[in-house]
Amino acid sequence: MAEHSDVLIVGGGVIGVCTAYSLAERGIGVRLLERDQICSGCSHGNAGWLFPSHSMPLPAPGVIRQAFDWLTDPKSPFYIKPRPSLELVHWLWRFWTACDRATMLESYRLRRELSLASLERYAKLAALPGLEFGFAQRGLFLAFHTRAGLAAAVEELAILAELGGRGQKLGPEELRDRVPALSPKLAGGIHLPDDAHITPGDFVRGLAEEARRRGAALHTETEVLEIEWRRAHPTRVTTSRGEFTCEDLVLATGAWSTRLVRPLRLRLPVQPAKGYSITVPRPEAFGEIPVMLGEAKVGVTPMGSNLRMAGTLELAGLDLSVSMQRVRAIERATRTYLPDLSLGEQVEIWRGLRPLTPDDLPIIGRPGGTRGLIIATGHGMKGMAQGPITGELVAQLVSDEPTSLDLRPFSPDRFA
Ligand SMILES: Cc1cc2nc3c(=O)[nH]c(=O)nc-3n(C[C@H](O)[C@H](O)[C@H](O)COP(=O)(O)OP(=O)(O)OC[C@H]3O[C@@H](n4cnc5c(N)ncnc54)[C@H](O)[C@@H]3O)c2cc1C
Repeated sequence: MAEHSDVLIVGGGVIGVCTAYSLAERGIGVRLLERDQICSGCSHGNAGWLFPSHSMPLPAPGVIRQAFDWLTDPKSPFYIKPRPSLELVHWLWRFWTACDRATMLESYRLRRELSLASLERYAKLAALPGLEFGFAQRGLFLAFHTRAGLAAAVEELAILAELGGRGQKLGPEELRDRVPALSPKLAGGIHLPDDAHITPGDFVRGLAEEARRRGAALHTETEVLEIEWRRAHPTRVTTSRGEFTCEDLVLATGAWSTRLVRPLRLRLPVQPAKGYSITVPRPEAFGEIPVMLGEAKVGVTPMGSNLRMAGTLELAGLDLSVSMQRVRAIERATRTYLPDLSLGEQVEIWRGLRPLTPDDLPIIGRPGGTRGLIIATGHGMKGMAQGPITGELVAQLVSDEPTSLDLRPFSPDRFA
């Protein structure tokens, strides 16, 4: 006999877990199915930045030219593995059409709006007794070696200011006064005082426990193998550990989101975008505020007694192999920007697949307005920053509440 629940969530990353929590908080019967352990996908080893003030989408004017320069350099922060894939060609085409300034500005606004709403929710969750995840709203620094890098970041400051955000340009000395571990050779930096960071694994696992305490059933090591559909309604979900039925199914499978809905002929252009992180014991010389190593696109985050360096973006399909060349590029960048930092023995080398859409906006909503299926994926570089609000929005859809943000820009139908 299949087990029935009001809502079945597939995927136990930040998006699935935040959704389970928001539903359980409302008293809705929810079951989450995760093929591995909670937070074993992309939500585990990321940089943990909650950064509404740095919301520039990937598609932007000039990015294609820069990408061509990067493609020929195996140490660069960006790489596309050449492969015969119609899905990739379609994705790249959609990406290219989103590179104009008007689209970039609108994406910036939407990404910031989602991240701001999430940050508010993080502050509330951090106050829950017993839920500790290193939430610290101390801002971020961006550090640049080149004048061109700094100038581009200053341009972004103008966009931020238009939307009511705060940020300050810092000269090289001012930057070193704030972050003494940085190289004296830098051109300068930016301070974004309103952003925050967390330890992502502690958040996702801790919130999953809170959801369980509120009645959510969490099934780990339970892989969804097949979903049977009648129109867009899931009639039966077959897993490696039994069968399930539900009123609503939430697809929160991150970079693995296309396969399970393929029978519906639903176009979900989500490309896996591999990134790496290295975690080491935190050197004393590194303070309490994260720093982005600007040109190298590496985020350095203090997480309790550890320090994590995270970066690179590789479009190479669902390939989880580790390129040590890219890992070393992250180490090298850290040594260049933070030359006096002695990096101890690695606690962890990690890679994860970001679920990336071509317009760099998440997909949240019911495809074709149907009942029975909600998509919640495609958060790209901002899944941590946008997780809690995504959970809320999905819970609002399930319970027919008015959504707290307009969901039209995130509709799965925009790619039809
Ligand atoms: C290097 C790096 C740094 C990053 N830094 C940041 C940052 O600072 N801030 C930020 O906001 N974001 C950051 N991100 C992005 C962020 O990590 C992702 O956007 C986010 O984790 C995506 O969450 P998710 O829940 O959609 O996917 P995942 O965490 O990948 O979860 C999906 C889950 O679905 C499960 N699953 C898949 N298929 C099935 C199936 N058939 N049955 C059952 N379960 C299934 C998987 O096992 C997985 O656990 C970073 C990413 C990387 C790689």
